[in-house]
Amino acid sequence: MPEGPEIRQTADQLVAALCDRVIDSAELEHEALRGQRRYIVGHRVTAVDCHGKALLTRFSSGRTLYSHNQLYGIWTVMPRGETPQTTRALRLALHTAEYSARLYSATDISLWRDEALTEHPFLRRLGPDVLANETVADHVLDRLERAEFRNRRLATLYLDQGFLAGIGNYLRSEILFFAGVHPQARPIDLEPAARRRLAVNTLRISKRSYRTRGVTLPSRLAPPACCRAGRAYEAGRFAVFARAGQPCYWCGAKIRKAEMASRRLYWCPTCQPASP
Ligand SMILES: [Zn+2]
Repeated sequence: MPEGPEIRQTADQLVAALCDRVIDSAELEHEALRGQRRYIVGHRVTAVDCHGKALLTRFSSGRTLYSHNQLYGIWTVMPRGETPQTTRALRLALHTAEYSARLYSATDISLWRDEALTEHPFLRRLGPDVLANETVADHVLDRLERAEFRNRRLATLYLDQGFLAGIGNYLRSEILFFAGVHPQARPIDLEPAARRRLAVNTLRISKRSYRTRGVTLPSRLAPPACCRAGRAYEAGRFAVFARAGQPCYWCGAKIRKAEMASRRLYWCPTCQPASP
């Protein structure tokens, strides 16, 4: 599933193709969009942004398109007149004079009046977005120390979009590794300095992944940009994620893997010692 950094990269592509441009035609295949053409066609796209894994496309009609890619959804952006080769189900296509943006396979799509968007059941319960400019380490630290979060295991807490939005499975393992904290620890178990380190690394690693298109390893260890494709790339992106049984780059200990909160989690037993 795409995580916050990948969704934000998609939002950037959509901004480049659609922002400040008029939608001159559209294919609205998803049933939630039936009868909504008058709010989309003939209107300008005023912004495309995201909150966690939700993508928000705003129109000058005062409506905002909410879409969540979930597991299978995918956006494509191509010059007008070109169509992707795919057997996926088209949900939505937005055409400007120069570009076509298409959303395939996603099922969670809806159009909202801007003022009603705050009532969206998913958006309403999201925590701060880890990639939003206004989110700073003190906000993360504050949440780690709140009564509702401080007694929960980090392995579970770090997938809860109500705690922080935009973190998914690979970021969970990578953030906890770079912070040097054990996945079974709870915020309350950590020394104040470790809690702060966790808060700082939560944003640092998420932002690094966004900047590097999904590479969380520091550049001295990451594969060169020319090799960032295929299997070698997948194996070379991360410090611990998907590296079970391989040596930790920092200490040489074998990386461990377990199912935690129903998703695979990886950690280094030496760099991330269990709390005393
Ligand atoms: Zn290690």
